[in-house]
This record gives sequence, structure tokens and C-alpha cells, in this order.
Amino acid sequence: MTLVTKKTKTILSRADFNAAFMSTVTTSLTTLLTTGWRWGLNALVPPACSLCGTFLRTQAGLCGDCWQSLGFITGPICRVSGQPMAVDLGAETISPAARVHPPPYRMAGAPFAYDGSAADLIKRVKFRDRPDLATYFAPHMLHFGADVLSPDSLFVPVPLHRWRLLARRFNQSAELVRALNELTGHDMSLTALRRVRATRRQLGLTRAGRKRNLRGAFAVPAKYRPEIAGRSVVLVDYVLTTGATVEECSRLLRRAGAAQVDVLTIARVVMPEQLILS
Ligand SMILES: [Zn+2]
Repeated sequence: MTLVTKKTKTILSRADFNAAFMSTVTTSLTTLLTTGWRWGLNALVPPACSLCGTFLRTQAGLCGDCWQSLGFITGPICRVSGQPMAVDLGAETISPAARVHPPPYRMAGAPFAYDGSAADLIKRVKFRDRPDLATYFAPHMLHFGADVLSPDSLFVPVPLHRWRLLARRFNQSAELVRALNELTGHDMSLTALRRVRATRRQLGLTRAGRKRNLRGAFAVPAKYRPEIAGRSVVLVDYVLTTGATVEECSRLLRRAGAAQVDVLTIARVVMPEQLILS
């Protein structure tokens, strides 16, 4: 009886040993192959900085110097529009433009100023086939938007008109939404907001002209209203210029029943007050 037990034990432990051995061999082989593959791939095509092309030791992205050259927005900002301000007045730090024309969104935030390196990088994200760069910006956007996110948050991208989508092949705002959804687990809706009419560029138009240009450009189809109703919507775009587009989208989302709308973008154009007010 004892012998059988011992035998059984011996057989079992040998089986366990074999299994453990095979598992170790398999894992080591996989690691070796993966590392070898990556090493081989990196030796052939080393990862390079997306801005300056400098070879990187680790994964693709930006080199240290290029990260440094991005214009992080620091210091006081308008609590509503996110526009940099000269003085911090606490909760009262609200720009004259946001006081004169209170926007339909609660807050707009962007981690970078849209100039220099940040503008170069965003143009690459926007016009060349680099949707993957969204994953580099998303954590910075989250850091900036930490105050407005809640478990009820719903990410919605500013949509592209279908012709532009066809030409560009992807909507960068939707790529950002996918990255934000992956990082936070908060819901996203890529279809609730539609661009039903193509528009001309907003820059250079007066405030009234910008409003006219966007009239009827977006819509929330009736069948998607239940997705929006009562939700805390986070509207996502890559760059905030005059703010007219996100204002129009926010207005429609509020009309579709959103409890509130906040805006998150990678960067914003920092412009003089008179240009926003005119
Ligand atoms: Zn670089």
C-alpha cells in the first residue's frame, strides 16, 4: 500500500517535473524567439523618434529632446475654455471671452499649446498614416482631464465628414477616443455624433461667420439619443482652434440629452482674446 502510494507519488512528481520542465523550456524558447525577433527587427529597422527621426533604444515614440520641445500648457488657465491666463484667481479664473459668450460645455482642456513641435506632430497624426501616435497623447489628455472624468463618462469623438474620412482613411479623434477608452475603461460612442455636411476651415472667419459655417453640419440621429441621454459626455478632438466646432457639437449633445459636456483635445491654439470675441 505504502509502496503503491510512493510509486504513485513518484510517478506524479515525475509527471509534474516533466510538465514544469516542458513549461520552462517552452517559456524560455518563446522568450528567446520573441526577444530574438524583436532584436532582429530592431537591428533591421531600429525604432525612431516620430519627430526628429533619432534612433531610440526602447520602443517607438518621441526622444527626450522632442518631448521637452512640446509646449506643455502650464500656469493659470481659464476654468472654462482652457485658454492660458496671466493671473490665477482660483475658481474665478475665467477669461473675458468665456464670460461674454458662456460656451455650452462645462470645461475644455488641452495639455499642449498648438505651435512648434506639437503642431508638427499633430499634423503628422492628422495627415499621415500615424494613428498609433494617439496612444502617446492619450495619457497626457487624461492627466489634464482627471477632474472631469467619472465612471459615468462617455467619450465621443468630433466626427469627420465621410468624404474627408475616405480621403484620410481614419478619424484621428476616433483613434484618440479608442486610446482613452482602453486606458480608462469608460464607455465610448463612435457613431452617436455625425457630420452631415462638409464645412470650410474656421480660421479667418468672424465669430458670426464661424457659427454660420457650422449650422447644420452635425447631427445626433434619433436612434442614438438613448446612448447620450443623462451621460457625462467627454467630447474629444485633436486640436482646439477657435472653439466653434466643439461648441456646436456640445450644443447638439446637450440638446440630445447629455447631462453635461466637457471637451478634451491634444492641443489648443493660444490666440488673443479679441480674435475669439470678434
Ligand atoms: Zn526626437
